[in-house]
Amino acid sequence: MTMKRVLFSAAGILAVSAIFAQGRTDFPMKPEMTEIWDPEITVVTPGTTVADAPSDAIVLFDGKNLNSEWTSENGTEPGWKVADGAATVVKGAGIIKTKRVFNDFQLHIEWRSPSEVVGESQGRGNSGIFLQGLYELQVLDNFNNRTYRNGQAGSFYKQYPPLVNVCKGPGVWQVYDVIYTAPRFKADGTFFTPPTVTVLHNGVLVQNHVALRGPTQYIGIPEYFVKPHGAGPISLQDHGNPVSYRNIWIREL
Ligand code: MG
Repeated sequence: MTMKRVLFSAAGILAVSAIFAQGRTDFPMKPEMTEIWDPEITVVTPGTTVADAPSDAIVLFDGKNLNSEWTSENGTEPGWKVADGAATVVKGAGIIKTKRVFNDFQLHIEWRSPSEVVGESQGRGNSGIFLQGLYELQVLDNFNNRTYRNGQAGSFYKQYPPLVNVCKGPGVWQVYDVIYTAPRFKADGTFFTPPTVTVLHNGVLVQNHVALRGPTQYIGIPEYFVKPHGAGPISLQDHGNPVSYRNIWIREL
């Protein structure tokens, strides 16, 4: 670990602690202040998994056609590249999101980091899967690539680090299986219960029924469900790296 990281980690913990202690929300925060680097996530080698869609699943991407189930942010056809059974981020094309919206679900999604290794930390194979368009399950190449704990593959970004690092190498297909229960709001729009999520990464538990703290924030502390929301899409992030996806299916619960 570099001295810079030590300083940022220490500064981040102190700053966040100070904010919670004082109940302040006006603190001038930086992205580094909510990064937690240590201790490093334990590495686990996964087995081989195969997961075809069961009969009651909605197939969101079959490897051939994105246009039937997905759109760009502004509702036009997705600008991602579809070839060889995969949909791949095209830098600058922006997020893609499902036309359908969901509440509680089981999601299966396979992703692949670029085989050409470029960049480090958050700059290597970064994408993400936003549940209900709001809560990012991080996609990142963390095979021999250190980054902050709460920002690596299998994390809920800046909220929950994964229990272990079960990343396969660049260019190799990986799997997330997600069981998600949406937040509940009272009839007057006030908060009732947070969303809860369980995630398997390559068949290994990395998130065990965690309660999310609010929509994902890059800078600062998540706002605690100050705005009620209903059903939302599955959104896939364009973070500028050519990450690929395939075999995406969902079961509404
Ligand atoms: Mg991301």
